[in-house]
Amino acid sequence: MGPPLLKAEEYDFKGLQKALKLRPEGIIDEIKKSGLKGRGGAGFPTGVKWELALAETGEKKYIICNADEGEPGTFKDRYLLEERPLKVLEGILIAARAIGANEGFIYIRGEYTEPIKIFKKTIEEAEKQGVLGDNIFGSDFNFKLTLVRGGGAYVCGDETSLINSIEGKRGISRIKPPYPIQAGLFDRPTVVNNVESLAAAAEIINQGADYYTGLGTKNSRGTKLICLSGDIEKPGVYEVEFGSTTLRDILYELGGGPLKDDSFKFIIPGGLSTAALTIEELDCQYSYEGIEAAGSSLGSGAIIAIGQKHQLLEILQRVGRFYMDETCGTCFPCREGNRHIDYIFKKHHNGKFYQEDVDILADIGKAISGAARCGLGQTSLSLARSLFYKFPEELIIGGGQR
Ligand code: NAD
Repeated sequence: MGPPLLKAEEYDFKGLQKALKLRPEGIIDEIKKSGLKGRGGAGFPTGVKWELALAETGEKKYIICNADEGEPGTFKDRYLLEERPLKVLEGILIAARAIGANEGFIYIRGEYTEPIKIFKKTIEEAEKQGVLGDNIFGSDFNFKLTLVRGGGAYVCGDETSLINSIEGKRGISRIKPPYPIQAGLFDRPTVVNNVESLAAAAEIINQGADYYTGLGTKNSRGTKLICLSGDIEKPGVYEVEFGSTTLRDILYELGGGPLKDDSFKFIIPGGLSTAALTIEELDCQYSYEGIEAAGSSLGSGAIIAIGQKHQLLEILQRVGRFYMDETCGTCFPCREGNRHIDYIFKKHHNGKFYQEDVDILADIGKAISGAARCGLGQTSLSLARSLFYKFPEELIIGGGQR
């Protein structure tokens, strides 16, 4: 499945030391050349984000590491925070140097007690050893990092809600644009990067963009941490080189296949906000473009396997309840849309729905995906919509035939 990129090693901050010898533009060029895409789920090019932030003027800029990993099925950032905290720290420092920030925050999901403990210690040690503070490694670079513990709201994984939360405000989303790189924390230019993106950036500067582009495909460079969970023999975090394998091999070879006396019913390939794939659709290449061609998206890399023992109704109701509970309630389409979706999911008839209710869901889906302020509302119906489309016999009275 390709060589591991985020391997353990004696830590010497080689990437950071290299970055300190480069101009900000040089660091950004390397990241752009690597083709690294944001690993939080949206896949926005990291180098472009840094370049836009560097171009912003003003005395103060911020870098924020988004470790509010809340997408159901996603636990790769937890692994990095626990097992590779120095690499994450190095990525934060390199990003800060690249955009011209002297202050940053790492916002860790409140439930991540162990990673919080580990990262607090990492910051304390780094301060003692001069990796954080003034004149880092004898350079003119000064940097202060503060850890913020999230309060348990899923919506704070959205970068704008997270920024509000750090500012001490209620964790509700902001309208974009302006993007955080234009007006983020305390209205200053702010880069918000996912934990895995920053760890990968550290490795890219350390090993060079050419090394990274030597892995993966043209549109999906490098490697990806994936989280296997659900009804699968060997759940866990794995590192996979893009393009080197298929979703089927990931599930059956790496993951060991379904649980004993079970088979897979369907797969969620990129976290709860992505469309389901059936067993017949698993022969796609594991890459952004491969999963897209199969009709879904790679998202945050959370692959959830669902076995035959689960009723689709049970899944729909859980998902509906989740989004209804987690909407921040600020924007009308998301607040009312998710309440209505939850209501329809409860209004079943022996596990099935009338076509007219499915039509109402489709209308809500259109409205909410276009009008909700943030990713929560925009994607809350993606999974359900795909289940109605792929399993009409099981979910729609009359099998979806008009
Ligand atoms: P987005 O596409 O709005 O933005 C992605 C990033 O690119 C952001 O940092 C944004 O500021 C930046 N960006 C986008 N366009 C820009 C522009 N024109 N100029 C400057 N910057 C720009 O996506 P999003 O709402 O931030 O994230 C949605 C994704 O989050 C979903 O795809 C979902 O998979 C994922 N998600 C992840 C988790 C998790 O725990 N990892 C949880 C929930 C959702």
